[in-house]
Amino acid sequence: MIVVVGAGLIGLSIAYELAKRGAEVRVLEAGDSAASASWSGAGRLAPFTESDGDEALELFLATALGVYQVFVKELHKRTGIDPYLRVDGIVEVAHDETQAARLRERVETLEGRGIHAHWLEPEDVLRIEPWLGPATVGASLIEDEGQIDNRQLGKALRMACADTGVRIEERTGPVALETADGRVAGVRGREGFLAAEVVVNATGAHGGELAGVPNEVRIPIEPVKGQLLVLAMPERRVTRLIYAPGAYLIPRLDGTLVVGETTDEHAGFDARVDPFATRRLREAAIAAIPALAGLDVIEQWVGHRPRSPNGRPYVGATALEGYFVASGHYRNGVLLAPATALAIANVIEGKAVEAPH
Ligand SMILES: Cc1cc2nc3c(=O)[nH]c(=O)nc-3n(C[C@H](O)[C@H](O)[C@H](O)COP(=O)(O)OP(=O)(O)OC[C@H]3O[C@@H](n4cnc5c(N)ncnc54)[C@H](O)[C@@H]3O)c2cc1C
Repeated sequence: MIVVVGAGLIGLSIAYELAKRGAEVRVLEAGDSAASASWSGAGRLAPFTESDGDEALELFLATALGVYQVFVKELHKRTGIDPYLRVDGIVEVAHDETQAARLRERVETLEGRGIHAHWLEPEDVLRIEPWLGPATVGASLIEDEGQIDNRQLGKALRMACADTGVRIEERTGPVALETADGRVAGVRGREGFLAAEVVVNATGAHGGELAGVPNEVRIPIEPVKGQLLVLAMPERRVTRLIYAPGAYLIPRLDGTLVVGETTDEHAGFDARVDPFATRRLREAAIAAIPALAGLDVIEQWVGHRPRSPNGRPYVGATALEGYFVASGHYRNGVLLAPATALAIANVIEGKAVEAPH
C-alpha cells in the first residue's frame, strides 16, 4: 500500500499516476482536497516569464509543460472536466524604456536559444491586446506559455483518482509518519494507524512539519504568502495572460479576470488579506489597462507557496526507506504537478520494497 499525505495538485497527481500503474493508493488529507495552495494558485504555465534566469530550470519547466499537455488531455477525456488549458502565449508589457530594454534583451536571448519569443512595438501589441493603455511602450510575447484553471484541474484530478480506485480520505486532521526498524511503517491519524510500505509527503507548505519524520530526512519548507483578487469583466478586455509592471492579469473563460500577486511575504501561515496590497495590484492592473477601472472586485484571497531554501522542489526518495517527498514547488507547483507525478512514480517503482506493477 502507498499512502500519499496531502491532496493538493501534487498529491492527487501522484496518486493518480501510481493508481494507473496498478498500485493500491490511499490519500490522507488534513482538510479538503485541492483546497489549499492548489486552489489559491493562479494557474500560470510560464517557464520563461516566471524564470529567475536559471536556464536549466527554464528547460526543465518547459519540458514539464510538454508533459502537461498530454496529462491534461488525458484527464479531460477520462473525466469530462475541462481544465481550460491554453498555451496561447504570455505578453509582458513595458511602461518605460528601462523595462523595454530588459524585455528586448530577454527576447533576443530566448530567440537565440530557439524559443518562440518576439518583441512587439506598441502598434503590434495593440493588435493582439487592444485594451492596453497609453503607458505601453512595447511588449514581449513568449509563445510557448499559457495558463490553466487550477481549480478545474483539481476537480478533474479528484474524479480521475476516484475512477482509478484511489481512496481519498478528507478531513483527517494532520497525520504523522510512523517508522519501525529504520524504515517507514505507515501513518497515524485520528482514526488510528494505517500500515504502508511507502509514504509520500505531498503536504505543500507544511512539507517541513510532517510529524514523525526523523530529523535527518526532514525538508526545510517555508510558506510564502501570496495575495490575489478577481475582477468581474463583463466585456472581454484581456485576451491572453498579460504581465504588466506590478501585476499580472489572467482572463478566465467564465468572464472573470484574476489579478495577482503579492510576492516576498514571509509571514508564516498568516491568511489575512491586506487591502493595501490588493489595492496596489488593482491599481497596477488599471495602469496597464485603464478600461479595467470601475470593474467590481468579486473575490480576494491568500495562499501559501511552499518554498525550499533555494526555491527548487524536493522530489524523490530519501535516506529513510519507504519515505518519499514531493514538496517545495513554490511558484510553479501547478505547472510541475504532472512532471512530479511521473518522477515520483518512476522513483517508487525503482525503489519501493513492493513496487506497483
Ligand atoms: C498566490 C499563489 C499563486 C500561485 N500561482 C501559481 C501559478 O501561476 N503557477 C504555478 O504553477 N504555481 C502557482 N502557485 C504555486 C502552486 O499553487 C503551489 O506550488 C502548488 O499548489 C503546491 O501544491 P501542493 O499539492 O504541494 O500543496 P497544497 O495544494 O497546499 O496541498 C498540500 C495539502 O497537504 C495537506 N496537509 C498538510 N499537512 C498535512 C498532514 N500532516 N496530514 C494530512 N494532510 C496534510 C494540506 O491540507 C493541503 O491540502 C501559486 C501559489 C500561490 C499561493
